Amino acid sequence: MSVWDELVGQGPIVASLSDVVANPSAMTHAWLFTGPIGSGRSNAARAFAAALQCDQGGCGTCQSCLMVAAGSHPDVSLVRTDGLSIGVDVARDYVRRAALAPALGRWQVLIVEDADRLTDQAANALLKSVEEPAPASVWMLCATAVEDVMITIRSRCRPVRMRTPSVDEVASLLASRDGIDRSIARAAAAAAQGHIGRAKLLATNVEVRDRRREILQQPLRIKTLGDCLVAAQDIVDEATSRADAQADELDQAELSNLRESWGVEDRGRRPPGYAGELSSMTKDQDRRRKRFARDAIDGVLIDLLAFCRDVVTTQLAPGADLVNADVAGDVATAAAAWTPESTVRRIDAIVECRTSLEANAHPQLALERMMSEFLS
Ligand SMILES: [Zn+2]
Repeated sequence: MSVWDELVGQGPIVASLSDVVANPSAMTHAWLFTGPIGSGRSNAARAFAAALQCDQGGCGTCQSCLMVAAGSHPDVSLVRTDGLSIGVDVARDYVRRAALAPALGRWQVLIVEDADRLTDQAANALLKSVEEPAPASVWMLCATAVEDVMITIRSRCRPVRMRTPSVDEVASLLASRDGIDRSIARAAAAAAQGHIGRAKLLATNVEVRDRRREILQQPLRIKTLGDCLVAAQDIVDEATSRADAQADELDQAELSNLRESWGVEDRGRRPPGYAGELSSMTKDQDRRRKRFARDAIDGVLIDLLAFCRDVVTTQLAPGADLVNADVAGDVATAAAAWTPESTVRRIDAIVECRTSLEANAHPQLALERMMSEFLS
């Protein structure tokens, strides 16, 4: 067992990071992990952090490795990104921490999970610490693409590019780690397009599978403008329920942590200061929930995009492998009903919708506009 076990399909990265762990003289103080959502870039950063702190290069079983995994190692900080952006105050806190000597480990590691969400001011605050690092500080920034990080920062980082794991790699992980039946694991891995967390959810939760199928049947049901509005609402509802499931669990854990640290009991008195803490935590949680909902809408759009790509593949190269093998019947129906040109038009509409949502468009309206391109 080792800290690298869960990094699926990242052999070359594991090899080069292990080399660095074995030769600390080759150490770099700033790293930039990039890869699509779900490729495991922050898991890779965490594994690297654990390996750097461990006496045996990342055994996965010692006290230090366990603390990093549990998020409780005093010398490995995860820079929190509850909101849509990381502000300058948060960045300054971590810059101060980066300068501290490690308490237990060898390095003072700071992992910024969504470095693309740093505001310009926050990035500037961080820049100095990256330019002139303290002897033990190590920054690990994670982002979707290198271009998402300010050029002055990224030019000082050593890049680590995660690749999207193959369907087979994800399927084997689900089978060996979670004991999921091979054929179910394979279908889920294909449908999740390399997103390991989503693949596991699809493989283990019938409700999630059914909802996905319903969403993918929408394109075939669009006949009138009214259908477009219903379909858009349906996507927003689906995204909200995905986001709520994710957020509820985190919110609950944070609330009980907060109550515990203030010694608040169910019927007891609230100590002074508690109400303020609670309200600022609730605000952060609301922001996070909105962000999850946006990410979830994008997840639904990626599913629809893959469906339409399967349709065009079927139209142009019948018999080729499908991403959505689980809804092959619907793909065939759409392939017969649409022309290749109109399928491409639908694909363009989805891509355009994703772009406008990224630029903060109103979700319902953007989705309605997209769906209107599905009227045949
Ligand atoms: Zn260890």
